[in-house]
Amino acid sequence: MGIRVQKFGGSSVANIALINNVARRVVKAKEEGDQVVVVLSAMGDTTDELLDKVREITSHPPAREIDMLLSTGEQVSIALMAMAINELGYPAVSLTGYQAGIQTDNAYTKGRILNIEPERILRELEQDKIVIVAGFQGMNQNNDITTLGRGGSDTTAVALAAALKADICEIYTDVDGVYTADPRIEPRAKKLDFISYDEMLEMASLGALVLQPRAVEFAKNYSVPLVIRSSFNNNAGTLVGEVESVENCRPVSGVAHDLNVAKIGIFDVPDRPGIAKKIFSALAQEQINVDMIIQGWVRDGRNDIVFTTARGDLEKAIPVVEKVVEEIGASGFVYNDRVAKVSIVGAGMITNPGVAADMFKALANQGINIEMISTSEIKVSCIIAEEHALKAVNALHEEFIK
Ligand code: ASP
Ligand code: MG
Repeated sequence: MGIRVQKFGGSSVANIALINNVARRVVKAKEEGDQVVVVLSAMGDTTDELLDKVREITSHPPAREIDMLLSTGEQVSIALMAMAINELGYPAVSLTGYQAGIQTDNAYTKGRILNIEPERILRELEQDKIVIVAGFQGMNQNNDITTLGRGGSDTTAVALAAALKADICEIYTDVDGVYTADPRIEPRAKKLDFISYDEMLEMASLGALVLQPRAVEFAKNYSVPLVIRSSFNNNAGTLVGEVESVENCRPVSGVAHDLNVAKIGIFDVPDRPGIAKKIFSALAQEQINVDMIIQGWVRDGRNDIVFTTARGDLEKAIPVVEKVVEEIGASGFVYNDRVAKVSIVGAGMITNPGVAADMFKALANQGINIEMISTSEIKVSCIIAEEHALKAVNALHEEFIK
């Protein structure tokens, strides 16, 4: 008998009929002899609806209060699920993040899990109960509720699977698994049977919204076997795991795109040690995540530094950059939030030269201008104008996957 963690996203528990559907699936896992821990998101669009209410009151809500509010969504779904499972004749108990022993840092709205004390969950499992845990939430050192960032229930599930040494973590969603591109944009996108942790991490970070990147990081670090599958059918889904040999990997497994991008450029940055530190620690202090950073060739002791952030962080970033520009004596800055990032990802890229060149060729053939480029061992990303994003995805899919 092993421990099985099953996570169901908001669309899988959007109404009572769907909650009952999930309850039956959970009971089936239990009947197969496993100890089952279920992690749930809030029902349907609950989290967005709660945020709409916030906007009716203020554009500057205290982050602590956002977390207090948003965490209620998951508490509704776990209580209803426990009742639905009880109705089917199986004992179930719902637990908040705190009750489940999930401890986070103090970063409201983007908390990071520091530690999990799984004793309560283990005790409930021992008593033969199905345990239903509220995703997306934890507790900080002040005993305040924190949330883990949008899509954070994935991270709850994987972190719990790691802490409980579960045999498998199943992420149930409304699609059949991980695709070679977003099927809503690329009609020829294919479902992958397998993807490596590293590829998945890149895909998730690059905007393929199937899994929260932090969840993939946890899965990789703790070698949690992960499967992504649909809650609406019994198809096998996509397995996420470690690759045995890069030689056998596809040069490009998938094409990702992200419209949630803004770019900021600082001009004539003095070329001295400590300046980059000054810029990026000021941004970090405001909890602004920076993605790509590009610095060019120095001319006359000065340099331009361009970087990207999430579009939603731009408003917060502007005053920070304004202040830093003054402090370091740069000549000014510009920003643009009508950009997008398109990327190709593949573990086999390492052993296949020319992949980047093929990407640039495919974009050039469509007349798409590249504004920034960044690479890792297994991905190439380009910043382009937002209006070309879809055309770019289609062209890259045609070039590398068909
Ligand atoms: N309900 C939260 C959200 O929509 C957490 C989650 O769904 O994973 O972001
Ligand atoms: Mg959700």
